[in-house]
Amino acid sequence: GGARFGMTAARSLSVSVVPILKKLQRECATPLPVLRHVADAMAADMRAGLAADGGSDLKMILSYVDSLPRGNEKGLFYALDLGGTNFRVLRVQLGGEEDRVVATEFDQVTIPQELMFGTSEKLFDFIASGLGKFSNKEGGKFHLPPGRKREIGFTFSFPVKQISIDSGILIKWTKGFAVSGTAGKDVVACLNEAMERRGLDMRVSALVNDTVATLAGARYWDNDVMVAVILGTGTNACYVERTDAIPKLDGHVSTSGRTIINTEWGAFSNGLPLTEFDREMDAASINPGEQIYEKTISGMYLGEIVRRALVKMAVEGALFGKSIPHKLLTPFLLRTPDLCAMQKDESDDLQKVGSVLYDVAGVESNLGARKVVVEVCDTITKRGGRLAGAGIVGILQKMEEDSKGLIFGKRTVVAMDGGLYEKYSQYRGYMHGAVTELLGTELSRNLVIEHSKDGSGIGAALLAAANSNYEHDF
Ligand code: BGC
Ligand code: MG
Repeated sequence: GGARFGMTAARSLSVSVVPILKKLQRECATPLPVLRHVADAMAADMRAGLAADGGSDLKMILSYVDSLPRGNEKGLFYALDLGGTNFRVLRVQLGGEEDRVVATEFDQVTIPQELMFGTSEKLFDFIASGLGKFSNKEGGKFHLPPGRKREIGFTFSFPVKQISIDSGILIKWTKGFAVSGTAGKDVVACLNEAMERRGLDMRVSALVNDTVATLAGARYWDNDVMVAVILGTGTNACYVERTDAIPKLDGHVSTSGRTIINTEWGAFSNGLPLTEFDREMDAASINPGEQIYEKTISGMYLGEIVRRALVKMAVEGALFGKSIPHKLLTPFLLRTPDLCAMQKDESDDLQKVGSVLYDVAGVESNLGARKVVVEVCDTITKRGGRLAGAGIVGILQKMEEDSKGLIFGKRTVVAMDGGLYEKYSQYRGYMHGAVTELLGTELSRNLVIEHSKDGSGIGAALLAAANSNYEHDF
């Protein structure tokens, strides 16, 4: 939706804003051939990453999750989730086939900024302390058989080189995290040390990426789930792969003949339509040259790209009048929820757009300027959503090529989660639109792309259950 940029708006603006906007729209365009190229390149990069470590932008990480939840899991399990804006803890009492989720409780806190730039010890102490407080409040609905340790599914949403189901080495931080002393370390060992410092006696029985936890959580309810995608602060996808399609398997044996691959698609970079604003944002980031797809499509960055475009329009085209609004020069001032709020405004005078600009950036705007701002938001959101859709099609395409008919010939579910997907309807619409455009109505007939709300919490707990140290009671 959003207002169109019409002649009236153009007349009330400095003439030089229009060419900047047109150029932006041209450079961000994602016509079908661009989408097709991205989908094909995604599929090709997946193959290259499966062939050898370092063979591609896509790491294609073995998750060591070889069997998915079946519904008969039983007992009390915990889940921890660290990865974006919030830190979450959860406990669930699983009741088996009939009763399923008997009870669940969770707690959530925003991760303090300083922890994102602090030391590894401080971050893991914070996690262990949150977990400790939460486990102390375990009430009557939850039951642990005597003599057992509480077991945790640890969702850690960064690129990790898994060593086993319950250990893995952090490759690098993403999404603005710059914690010192964690890269190259086993994150489960880091957590264990922090738990020991607090005298907390719990055991991590599964270390998983958020995409993997989401896939597991969605699969608990629906056997046709084959892919999970996160579109939130960051972005990533995982899927069910056949082990005979993984040349770099390295002696890992899966009795099911299948395993989940964490693609780490945020690092994809092939053939993306980028602008000067993307390049400048990347150069100024804490991980220049990395996570280019993530920087183009995910929630942490959309607002920053828009802000950079608006600054150029203000400086070179007097978008907001003669003076340049100072506050607008602050990096990451505009956030995805602001873009979303502005794009929702359907009033004639774009009053909400005006108040967001004023409240967030201290900018006074006339109707013409507001219309341009909405156009810029729409341009960046549309590019992001459509490129995300192309990535999803790339994964499905790769799976279909290896298993003729098994993806498009029957019902296949892609489980989605993340704030961007959940809350930004325009983005979601563009994403779905690109998928249908690429696949056509025939192939997309059996495809279900659906929100798996908070599936990752239960998913991580289910994977902890599947990898429990104790005999199953079923
Ligand atoms: C991380 C992934 C994660 C994704 C979504 C990316 O920045 O590299 O591991 O799955 O964000 O949270
Ligand atoms: Mg998350």
